[in-house]
Amino acid sequence: MDFAHSERARALIERLSRFMRDEVVPAEHVYTAELSGSADWRQWRQPPVMEALKAKARAAGLWNLFLPEAGHGAGLSNVEYAPLAELMGHSFIAPEVFNCNAPDTGNMEVLVRYGSDAQKARWLTPLLAGETRSAFCMTEPGVASSDATNMQATALIEGDQVVLNGRKWWSTGIGHPHCRFVIFMGLSHPDAAVHERHSMVLCPLDAPGVKVERMLPVFHDYDEPSGHGEISFTDVRLPLDQVILGSGRGFEIAQGRLGPGRIHHCMRAIGVAERALALLCARATTRTAFGKPLIKLGGNEDIVADLRMAIEQARLLTLKAAWLIDTQGVKAAISEISQIKVVAPAVAQQAVDAAIQIHGGAGVSDDFALVALYAHARVLRLADGPDEVHRGLIAKREVRAQMAAAAAQAGA
Ligand SMILES: Cc1cc2nc3c(=O)[nH]c(=O)nc-3n(C[C@H](O)[C@H](O)[C@H](O)COP(=O)(O)OP(=O)(O)OC[C@H]3O[C@@H](n4cnc5c(N)ncnc54)[C@H](O)[C@@H]3O)c2cc1C
Repeated sequence: MDFAHSERARALIERLSRFMRDEVVPAEHVYTAELSGSADWRQWRQPPVMEALKAKARAAGLWNLFLPEAGHGAGLSNVEYAPLAELMGHSFIAPEVFNCNAPDTGNMEVLVRYGSDAQKARWLTPLLAGETRSAFCMTEPGVASSDATNMQATALIEGDQVVLNGRKWWSTGIGHPHCRFVIFMGLSHPDAAVHERHSMVLCPLDAPGVKVERMLPVFHDYDEPSGHGEISFTDVRLPLDQVILGSGRGFEIAQGRLGPGRIHHCMRAIGVAERALALLCARATTRTAFGKPLIKLGGNEDIVADLRMAIEQARLLTLKAAWLIDTQGVKAAISEISQIKVVAPAVAQQAVDAAIQIHGGAGVSDDFALVALYAHARVLRLADGPDEVHRGLIAKREVRAQMAAAAAQAGA
């Protein structure tokens, strides 16, 4: 077992670390200052510093690193991308700087793998260039969407058109001033087998019948300029060639989309945990109470040690899931992807919570990045499937494997 990074991953880690230290982290305050602060999302503008950083990152070759397909991206394996995504997780602005932000990454993967040439030319090319942004519309307010087969919004085929109706929410990125389209998932064939009923459809944001009803705050923050929106679709008529891969094939695409996307979230969550631990240590060693640095009080050293162990374990599990995807495909990695999807956000939340505690009142202010990091980690325990759904999948597979092993032993 070789734990070393490949040579090209090592070189990229070094360049990305330098770029993060010299360009991205120092720009966080500028970015925040350049946000409009407006309650009306229609007033939101892209902070100019983001476009400047994107141009620099692209010129430096630190661009689309998530895409394994050479020709579109850097051609890295998931194992090679993992430490880079982790570094990006240190800063809330970094993923967009490197064109590696969700949900655009998942949407780009879908278009690379399943898009027609015409769909790629119209929607993928500008996304790859970082000129546009996109959203992914699966979750619905009216049904428990942790069970994706519940989806009720429709994408009905009528002659040479597909007609969208329904309401979606928590569509991340919809408020971004550069957002131009969504991937809408809806019911096309209600009588077909459960996983052959839904389609994915490319829908321009300015199509007649599409209305962004409101933005949803997360812990009182609208995540400007990206935003999470609630959108209504009323008789939205689109040419049939906007359906991806074919009607009824939505779940087939979703399986391919969510595997790598989920572990990208986990890789970044490890970065969140690392940044929180770094902030915790800096504060605990430089502030004094009761005649000692905070680190020497109570069980604070144990907290640091426990976090270091938890982060190392989470990183190893992330890398194992990435390695399985690389070597045996998403299907073979299903349990490990769910395992890390439960573990990584929990470790990140634990690390940020501990860092907030050691900062005292400052921890819940805006002077440190901790509040935003906490919200990010907490939300990840819901997005892309709540913890319980992943636990259910892990247990089901485990029991099945144990029973198969017992049956094989009994038959031997
Ligand atoms: C900030 C944010 C961004 C998001 N971005 C997107 C996006 O871009 N696009 C998109 O389509 N969606 C997005 N989502 C939606 C997210 O994926 C859903 O919230 C999630 O899938 C859960 O669906 P739900 O909210 O309908 O919860 P429900 O399905 O109503 O579930 C609620 C709770 O029920 C419990 N539960 C559910 N199933 C089980 C089970 N099997 N066992 C035990 N308990 C269970 C869990 O505690 C769960 O949290 C986002 C959500 C958030 C918060």
